[in-house]
Formats: sequence, C-alpha cells, structure tokens
Amino acid sequence: MAQRKRILITGAAGFLGSHLCDRFIKEDYHVIGMDNLITGDLRNIEHLFKLENFEFYNHDVSKFVYVPGELNYILHFASPASPIDYLKIPIQTLKVGSLGTHNLLGLARAKKARMLIASTSEIYGDPTVNPQPEEYWGNVNTVGPRGVYDEAKRFQESITMAYHTFHGLETRIVRIFNTYGPRMRLNDGRVLPAFIGQALRGEPLTMFGDGSQTRSFCYVDDLIEGIYRLLHSDYAQPMNIGNPDEITIREFGEEIIKLTGTDQQMISLPLPTDDPKQRRPDITKARAILGWEPKVSRSEGLKITYEYFKSLPEQEIQHKDF
Ligand code: NAD
Ligand code: UDP
Repeated sequence: MAQRKRILITGAAGFLGSHLCDRFIKEDYHVIGMDNLITGDLRNIEHLFKLENFEFYNHDVSKFVYVPGELNYILHFASPASPIDYLKIPIQTLKVGSLGTHNLLGLARAKKARMLIASTSEIYGDPTVNPQPEEYWGNVNTVGPRGVYDEAKRFQESITMAYHTFHGLETRIVRIFNTYGPRMRLNDGRVLPAFIGQALRGEPLTMFGDGSQTRSFCYVDDLIEGIYRLLHSDYAQPMNIGNPDEITIREFGEEIIKLTGTDQQMISLPLPTDDPKQRRPDITKARAILGWEPKVSRSEGLKITYEYFKSLPEQEIQHKDF
C-alpha cells in the first residue's frame, strides 16, 4: 500500500482549519493538526480523534515547532481572524503571523515540505480599486487598530516569498476573502454570526455605519476546494480565492432578516476605525490557473449556515460575551 502523504495543518481547531482537516482526511492524507485553542474549539475536530490517520498537538506555533517524522505539506492557518479577536489579542496576532510563520517555514525547509500560507484580503486594507486584483498593493494604516492583523499578514507573505526565492522552498499564498459556514463562532463578532445570533435572540441587528460598505461572502466548501487546487498547482505567486458576489452590509442584514423569518430592525452603530469601504475579489487568476470558481450561491450557503447555528445548544445561542 502506498504511504499516505503527511500534512501539518496549523489552526486546526478553528473554522477553516477544521474544514481543511476534514478535506485532507477525506483525500486519505495523514493529518497532523496543531492549535493552541486561543480562538479555536476542540469540538470542531473531535470527530477526527478516533481516526488512525489524525493526530493533534496543542501547541503555540509562535514558539519553536517540532513535528517528528516526514512532512510533505504544511498549511499555516493559525491566527486570530475576526476583528474582535485580533483587537483583543493584538500582540499574539502579530507574533503568529511573523514568528509563527518563520518557525513553520524553517520546519518546511528542514522537512522539504511544500508550505501554503493563509493570507487575506485585509492585505489590501481599505482598497482604492474595486474589485481587487492580486497586483494591487493595498492601502493599509500600519498603526491603526487593524494594522496588527494586516501587517502581520503582509509580513507573512514577504517572508514566505523570501524563503521561496532565496531557499528554493515550494510555497503557495492564498489571499482569502470573507468566508462563512458551519463552525464559525457565533460570538466571534464577524458580521454573519453577529447578525444570525442577534436574529436568533430576537435582538436588533447591529449595522456598523450606514451599511453602505460592501463585502463578498464565500461559502466554506468553495474556499476549501480553491485551496486544495492551489496547493497542488505549481503557482507560487499570491492568489485571491473568494466569491465576487458583492453586497452592501445593509442589504446583507435584510437578507438575514428574511432568511430567519424574524421581524428584527437594524440599528446603526459607529463604524469601526479603518473599516474597509469595499471588498470584492478579482478571481481571473483562480479561474484561469486553477479552473476554479465558487459554486455555492449566497442563498444556499446562508441556509446551511443558519441551520447549523440554529442547531447549537440554546445556552450557546444566548451567550454573547466576546
Ligand atoms: P479561527 O479563529 O476560527 O481559527 C484560527 C485558529 O488558529 C484557532 O483555532 C486558534 O486557536 C488558532 N491559533 C491562533 N493563534 C495560534 C497560535 N499562536 N498557535 C497555534 N494556534 C493558534 O479563524 P479562521 O476564520 O478559521 O481563520 C483561519 C485562517 O484563515 C487565519 O490565518 C485567517 O487569518 C485566515 N483568513 C480567514 C478568513 C475568513 O473569512 N475566515 C479570511 C481571510 C483569512
Ligand atoms: N459589521 C456590522 N455589524 C456587526 C459586525 C460587522 O455592520 O455586528 C460590518 C463591519 O463593520 C464590516 C462588515 O460588517 O464593514 C464585515 O465585518 P467582519 O467583521 O465580518 O469582517 P471584515 O471584512 O471587516 O474583516
């Protein structure tokens, strides 16, 4: 029997990391999950613990990382990802994007593994072009509150490309745009769980600013497929993966009210500092190079996600401390 490929996935207990674990298990890889549970939840991967081709390490990747045995691939997804999280733990956010990435690049080099990093549309900051192609350099306030995340991710891209260029390491960079689906934390502060949680609790939906800012939401299964294809491609430059279907936050709130069959109102709260006014991926490259495009419409994806949140224990739905 052929030896299973071995893959290390950091951030494995988080939203995206856990879906990646599922996908690589399904493809018959030996999956090594790593997470320090700072924003993750072991329940996202507890169904994998019984499998012989899954292992888990509770470890902070900003500290030296060691994994015994061979490694063919590393996916670095560990990082706080919601604005509320990274504003609460800004130094850890900077460290996992910088020191954590450096540690994992060193590990990849030692193991001769291919490494893919989770970058983000946030590297474009508050973009002055819409949609955003990979060639756009971004508009980030380095010392603003979101700078801790944006600059960590920009550094992460730079150091990854430097390892590629100077050490010949095989690397891949995915720039992920707003993704949603089951296993998001209901109280992580991101707009989709925030709105659905509020609708389920019978509270008004908290729209920040006048709601004219836009986002483009990608269903998690589509994202995972794009990442899977990028990892196995030979493309080392950054690649946008996201759904170009752009919507204002006000319209999005109205969709959630309709979906949940409630008669909630929306209230306007102050717009957070440096909140990007528009965001939409240009996915020309993903289409041409990976033959990838999103397949799940927002209405389908939202239905599945709503069912997931509705099925959570009542006390979790009512618990809204951030
Ligand atoms: P998440 O918070 O659900 O998952 C992140 C995981 O990383 C958590 O389980 C957390 O405990 C773990 N982690 C954080 N710091 C760590 C450390 N120092 N050591 C070990 N583990 C650590 O977030 P997510 O939405 O799944 O995001 C995963 C990755 O994808 C992040 O790198 C994020 O920047 C990136 N990303 C996500 C989105 C999105 O829309 N979800 C968009 C762009 C980029
Ligand atoms: N937002 C909102 N109400 C909320 C949470 C977020 O109106 O309760 C807005 C936020 O200001 C931003 C958009 O929704 O314009 C998306 O925010 P999120 O935190 O989900 O992700 P971001 O794309 O900003 O990282």
